Amino acid sequence: MLVFKFGGASVKDAAGIANLAQVVKKYTHEQLLIVVSAMGKTTNALEKLTNAYFNQADDVHELYEEVKQYHYQILHELFDGSHPVFDEVANTFVEIDWMLEDEPVDTYDFIYDQLVSVGELLSTRIVNAYLNQVGLTSKWLDVRGYIHTDNTYREGVVDWPKTRASVQQDLPTMLGKSIVVTQGFLGGTSENFTTTLGREGSDYTASILAACLQAQSVTTWKDVPGVLNADPKFFEDTVKFDELSYTEAMEMTYYGATVIHPKTIKPLQNAGIPLLVKPFNDPDAPGTVIGNAENQRFDKAIIIVKQNQVLISVSAKDHSFVSEQQLSQVYRIFAQNQVKVNVMQTSALSLSVCFDRVEERFEQLYNQLKLEFNVKYNDQLSLITLRHYQYSLLQQLTEGKTVLLQQTSRNTAQVVTAG
Ligand code: ASP
Ligand code: MG
Repeated sequence: MLVFKFGGASVKDAAGIANLAQVVKKYTHEQLLIVVSAMGKTTNALEKLTNAYFNQADDVHELYEEVKQYHYQILHELFDGSHPVFDEVANTFVEIDWMLEDEPVDTYDFIYDQLVSVGELLSTRIVNAYLNQVGLTSKWLDVRGYIHTDNTYREGVVDWPKTRASVQQDLPTMLGKSIVVTQGFLGGTSENFTTTLGREGSDYTASILAACLQAQSVTTWKDVPGVLNADPKFFEDTVKFDELSYTEAMEMTYYGATVIHPKTIKPLQNAGIPLLVKPFNDPDAPGTVIGNAENQRFDKAIIIVKQNQVLISVSAKDHSFVSEQQLSQVYRIFAQNQVKVNVMQTSALSLSVCFDRVEERFEQLYNQLKLEFNVKYNDQLSLITLRHYQYSLLQQLTEGKTVLLQQTSRNTAQVVTAG
């Protein structure tokens, strides 16, 4: 049994969905579980809609119409107007209609999950209908009844025993009869509310389902040839890895490589399931296999760039040395605001912390720190992480830039730069 994951970019238009079907057709001799993200930039669009609705802004209707138009346009390109998928999609939109009619009374994170999840509900309806239309036998599965989470909205914590039991109960039989298409990114609470697993979480969904089913492999189909040593949008002469160890892949995602969601690897490593990263426009290409690769040599360094970074410097109001109590207080404020620390460095009189600037969280974090400490910050910075680097590369990448923080160990170098 194979698990396939198709991200938003691979299903961004009618041609993408047709291509997905072509890829799937090559594997009809296998049992297939297909996990799909929201189409194109739908999640971003629904995020905007959520913000507008939550703040009761004027453009709620307009933003909602854009999402609808985009999906209906693709539907018309793929299906005859009388196809039942039109009703399925209309019914899915009704869930949003009801919500948007009333004023928001729930928390932002709760509303976010109820609204944003519609992206995956729509994409999977469309993909499933299209696979059947082109002669494949496929069934649509509502993943919210299988991936059980707590009620941490926007970052649902998976209840593994419950999830495993549900998945193992129904899915093997279903997969024996047909392809199964289901939503990435979503989970459900015990009260049947929808949760999401964190942005870009569809990879994680594929990994959870594969681990519960002891799948043969997971393939994530991407718009790149595999895992590259650097983002080709920013660097020339990138190289693709044929294989990569689970550990190296985990390190890469930890430092910010966006090719795979950070939570994806561990469940697969525990279950000994390889993760294949393959190009959706060249399905026969080998891609990258992430597994038990050992003693790998890296001729080229791995470069990971995170932008939109803030470097905050915190010192005691009485100018005393930084104490352990103060360190733990600073960390507590970061944890309370759900801001993840990317790098930190202490000196005698101050603590510097680098993190992603997330608008909704930044102000509050800053204000809370300011109550207790002297705080200064720089923003619009980049955090560059190099793995298996040579010193010359580090010099080359920082040339002409202001380095605000640098940390190096034998395998890893990190620099925070401006400009
Ligand atoms: N659609 C969700 C997102 O864009 C999940 C995913 O694509 O993996 O974050
Ligand atoms: Mg996506």
